[in-house]
This record gives sequence, C-alpha cells and structure tokens, in this order.
Amino acid sequence: MLDNPTTAGSRALSTTHRTRLLILGAGPAGYTAAIYAARAGLKPLVVAGMQPGGQLTITTDVENYPGFADPIQGPWLMEQFRAQAEHVGATIIQDVVTRIDLKAQPIRAEGDSGDVYLAESLVIATGAQARWLGIPGEQELSGFGVSACATCDGFFFRGKSVAVIGGGNTAVEEALYLSNLASHVTVVHRRDSFRAERILQERLFAKPNVTVLWDTVAEEVLGTEGGRFRAVRAIATRNARTGERGELAVDGVFVAIGHDPATALFRGHLGMDGEGYVVTEPGSTRTSIPGVFAAGDVQDRIYRQAVTAAGTGCMAALEAEKWLAHLPEDAPAIEAWT
Ligand code: NAP
Repeated sequence: MLDNPTTAGSRALSTTHRTRLLILGAGPAGYTAAIYAARAGLKPLVVAGMQPGGQLTITTDVENYPGFADPIQGPWLMEQFRAQAEHVGATIIQDVVTRIDLKAQPIRAEGDSGDVYLAESLVIATGAQARWLGIPGEQELSGFGVSACATCDGFFFRGKSVAVIGGGNTAVEEALYLSNLASHVTVVHRRDSFRAERILQERLFAKPNVTVLWDTVAEEVLGTEGGRFRAVRAIATRNARTGERGELAVDGVFVAIGHDPATALFRGHLGMDGEGYVVTEPGSTRTSIPGVFAAGDVQDRIYRQAVTAAGTGCMAALEAEKWLAHLPEDAPAIEAWT
C-alpha cells in the first residue's frame, strides 16, 4: 500500500499512501469513522491533523459521554478512541493536510510532511477551532496571558486573577476549572444571561471566588509596559447598556466564545454554509461531492457534542462503505493509482 518515490530537498523520504478511505481529523468523529471502516475491511487511513484527539484533549472531566458512570478525563477518552481504532486495523498518521484536490480521481491530498495521500473516498472530520474576539492586544498577548484553553494554560495562573470571556458552556466550564487554580475568576459576558446549561451555571454561582460582569464587552487586552516580558495587566471594558468604560485588572484572559469549523482547506471546493460549515444532505453525511463525507463539528452547528460527532462518524463510514461498493467495476485498481 505504501511506496517511497522521492527524496525532496531537506525532507526525509516522502511517502505516497493509497487507501480506499482517507479520514481527515482524529476527534470522536474521525476515530469512530475509522473504527467502523476498519471493521468493514476498508483499511482506513486517518491523518490526525494539528490537534490529534480534537477538542476533548483540552477538556478535563467528561460527564456526558455515555457508558461511564463516573466522570472520565477527555484526553484519556481520546486515547481509548485511538487505541480502539488501531486495534481494529485503522492506520493513524501524524500529519497535517495542506492541499487537497477533491475532484481528482482518486482524491489527492498533500501533507505538511511532504507525503501524498490518494484515496477513493474521504471523510472530513476536521472539527472546529476556538474563535477569537479580534480586539486590540488579543493576538499580541496570545501566549503571554491570553489563551483559549484553560486546561492547557490554567496552570500558569495559580493564585492569580483571570477573566473568562463568553457565556456558553465552554466559558462556564473554563471558569469552573480556573476557579480551582486562580485566586479570582471574573466572567465577562456581553449579555445579562448565560446560554450555558443550568447545571453548569449553578455550579459556577456557588463558587466564592467567581464574579460575573454582565452586559460587559471586552474592548482591548492591555499589557504591561517596559517590563522584560510581555504580560497581561488588564482588559478595557465597556458596559453594553450604559456605555460606561472601565478597566478590569487581571493577569490572564481566557477567550471562550465558541468555535469555527476547520474548513479553510476546502473553501470554494465543497458546499458550505455562510459560516463555513460543510453542508451535508439532511439525515446523511454526504457532501456536495460524491464519495466525500463530512462528520462531527465540521458539519454540525447545532449539537457539537462528542457523542453526536461519534454518531455522525459512524454514519460517514457506513455511507462511504456503501458508496465504495457501488463504484464501477472498471475503476482502476488501488495499486495502479499515480
Ligand atoms: P456557544 O454556545 O456558541 O457560546 C458562545 C458564547 O460566547 C456565547 O455566550 C456568546 O454570547 C459569546 N460570544 C460569541 N461571540 C462573542 C464576541 N464576539 N464577543 C463576546 N462574546 C461572544 O459556544 P461554546 O460555549 O463554545 O459551546 C459550543 C457548543 O458546544 C454548544 O452546543 C455547547 O453546548 C457545546 N459544549 C458542551 C459542553 C458540555 O456539554 N459539557 C462543553 C462545551 C461546549 P451570546 O450568548 O450573547 O451569544
């Protein structure tokens, strides 16, 4: 299935991988597609992408993935997904696809590693990425006090004061997590109510070291000046009702305002909605291109849960299997692809 045709410049040997089913993304959707496809004998190949394991690798307690009576850890759950996929025969490759031709037959993808992937069918399970506010100071201080992942960076703010921006499940979960590390957490939300689940809100309101600034917009992240290292010192705020401006002194800012689907690679080549989610046929994972399926958060703007991602991953594998079974008999053999 593999060959080593070229030695490109400073790169090590690049490899051409040929597979009946290529899966892009290694979150719940990608791994579940891989498990089903491997058990169907398709020998799927998973290219894991930037964040193998997906968003659950930056989550701690998971209480809503069925099958576990006690809370489990997100990274542990994803290790189990991966081990299960490998156990049933999927191949997982650590690479990031940077170019893809969805209309070529076979589909042709190129990885950051220099490797080439030729595939009869494709499951896009690239997930979604954290959204940023786009305010001054945010990117300049990213990694110097501004973060989109409390479980990754919360450790650095032990005993310090932090702000979490947003009002959904992610923001409230990040604030809860940080409340166990930071001396104080201020949740800054642009409206007067959260959209997070009630049970999470109740837990948050019970925390003595958490304050909520309602109706408040973060306008700028302010850094320290003149020091040897850049660091956050405050956020500039505006009250959305009164227009009153202020400053909230904090050491860290966690932006938790949702996610954007990771679909830049496919823009202009595949049917997408206005926000960049891949459009699939209702009740199916079929996209606008035959043989290309989409599963998980990349095509789901509504549920965005690990369990729904896994469910659509299963659907994608079953639909790919059916599609592959009906390919014309004169299609070139996999070994003949170039
Ligand atoms: P979300 O539900 O879309 O919430 C985003 C929050 O950020 C909203 O409160 C929104 O304010 C705010 N926001 C958006 N853009 C903003 C901006 N430019 N400036 C200031 N605030 C802004 O996103 P999420 O919390 O990441 O959750 C995404 C999905 O994953 C949801 O379906 C959620 O239920 C699910 N999820 C579930 C769990 C769990 O079950 N444990 C954990 C995490 C996420 P408004 O309210 O004013 O719109």
